[in-house]
Amino acid sequence: MSTSFHSKTKLDPFGTTVIEDYERLYAEFGIQPFKPLLPEMPDPNAAMRRGVIFGHRDFERVLHAMKNNDEFAVMSGIKPTGEFHLGTLQTAREVIYFQQQGGMAFYCIADVEAYEDNRIPFERSQKYAVGNVADLLALGFDPKKGYIYQQSKEQRVKDLAITFGRGVTLATMTAIYGERHMGLYLSSLIQAGDILLPQMKEFDGPKPTVVPVGIDQDPHLRLTRDLAFKFRSKYKFVPPSSTYHKLIKALDGSPKMSKRAHMSCFTLEEKTEVIGKKISNAFTGGRPTAEEQRRLGANPDICPIYDLYLFHFFERDDDVVNLYDSECKGGHILCGEDKQRLIKNVTDFVKEHQRKRRRFIDKAREILEVE
Ligand code: SF4
Repeated sequence: MSTSFHSKTKLDPFGTTVIEDYERLYAEFGIQPFKPLLPEMPDPNAAMRRGVIFGHRDFERVLHAMKNNDEFAVMSGIKPTGEFHLGTLQTAREVIYFQQQGGMAFYCIADVEAYEDNRIPFERSQKYAVGNVADLLALGFDPKKGYIYQQSKEQRVKDLAITFGRGVTLATMTAIYGERHMGLYLSSLIQAGDILLPQMKEFDGPKPTVVPVGIDQDPHLRLTRDLAFKFRSKYKFVPPSSTYHKLIKALDGSPKMSKRAHMSCFTLEEKTEVIGKKISNAFTGGRPTAEEQRRLGANPDICPIYDLYLFHFFERDDDVVNLYDSECKGGHILCGEDKQRLIKNVTDFVKEHQRKRRRFIDKAREILEVE
């Protein structure tokens, strides 16, 4: 758990992450702003253009490889504790973007972490994993240019974790993650193995690797970069790079969607009527009366409905700008109308996605070698 001494900001991959102000993460945690690199990005995706991806560590190294057609890898994954939700959708889209830009893509099913952090037995997480991989394929991941695996079955990752154990003390783990049970420290070492797997000789490593994640995952990157440095003479690791996306607000207005709070988020497998109901009941940045909202405008900065459009459910950037500046702040739309439009956009997307996903279930079983 990384805590800033200057503010209440707390980055905790195993618990509650609090971010007072994204701008302050630059100074307080040594994260670099992504925006200055945007003009150099080949065909930047919506999350990059809209500032959803706001920060990075050492990303220039990967950008250089992308621009020169040199080899690079992208690595991220999912904790198989349930169906795909909007946070995992964000990460998957980023992995697919870098794959389409020429990166060799690694996608890890973090079933060890699901066991250690969420107590999900391996038999159950395997069932979720099949659905998660079908989602990834439906979103456009190309398995021919990628490697999808389960942590618990990937011996090379476990071997790296065993090796790395010698390079880290309990005091370091406590400083990064707080006082936790040993299983979480173990799963962090395994994650370090995941992040550095693309650099093994079998995958033509070492090579620059980008890890696109939510900002709450930064402690894992700091640990892994430290381990990459400590074990550089044996493996010749290139320090892994990362990009960070903001965390989408929960439907109740709290800072991060959590699968543990059922009404605060939805998954891509839920019935569209249920999703519609959740959106209808969501918190907004609206005014108490329609008259006040028309006169004074509303506040998109605290509104999860705005976040849903910004992150996923407006295709055109102009529509996002128009909602923020004119419709919402200018009082030209009421929250009820805005929610109805969002329900339609989400329903269209989810129905189409569910249709595509069904076609990939068998392929997902084959990839994960599940009967
Ligand atoms: S108008 Fe839309 S974006 Fe603005 S506060 Fe209401 S629901 Fe949120």
